[in-house]
Amino acid sequence: MKKEKGLLLVLSGPAGVGKGTVCSALRQENTSVQYSVSATTRSPREGEQDGVNYFFKTREQFENMIEQDQLLEWAEYVGNYYGTPIEYVRETINNGQDIILEIEVQGALKVRERFPEGVFIFLMPPSLAELRSRIVGRGTETEDIINKRMTVAKEEIDMMKKYDYVVENDQVHLAVDRIKSIVTAEHCKRERL
Ligand code: 5GP
Repeated sequence: MKKEKGLLLVLSGPAGVGKGTVCSALRQENTSVQYSVSATTRSPREGEQDGVNYFFKTREQFENMIEQDQLLEWAEYVGNYYGTPIEYVRETINNGQDIILEIEVQGALKVRERFPEGVFIFLMPPSLAELRSRIVGRGTETEDIINKRMTVAKEEIDMMKKYDYVVENDQVHLAVDRIKSIVTAEHCKRERL
């Protein structure tokens, strides 16, 4: 019988929403989900280890990886390259294990093109959640402010629409619980197929 593939989970969202924090908290829970280690050209921060937090590369090494098609996706973010080595992702899902990628929005949308069956989770800051309900709700602000807020929120909401799930990061442990529920739900869904 053909082995069931693992889930390819993508955790993404706007800058500063706390993707890294939520991902580390999920990691500490020792679920069976594996973590993809990205390659980057940025310098290591204190305490970061090569091969653990990132594979730290020169621009030339990174560009070689792009040329040799070793990356599932890559993006330039604040002057540095970031990308997901494809080999480990492939191996993991082909072995029936789930894997999670913690990446920014441009990269996530590229993964969607190559792996439409992936599970895309948009981590949303609580202020956006409030804003969204306020826009949808009463509208007591001046028209000008509502319009400006609508513009910003619309850009974020447009991105959200491309994802399968939106998880609010109001408290890290709640966001982690929601992600674990998504993993469970996705497994239940696939078992039915
Ligand atoms: P940091 O430099 O703070 O570790 O990461 C900066 C941003 O790059 C974060 O939004 C993080 O999610 C994103 N990032 C990390 N790895 C990857 C990757 O492999 N691909 C893409 N597209 N973004 C990544």
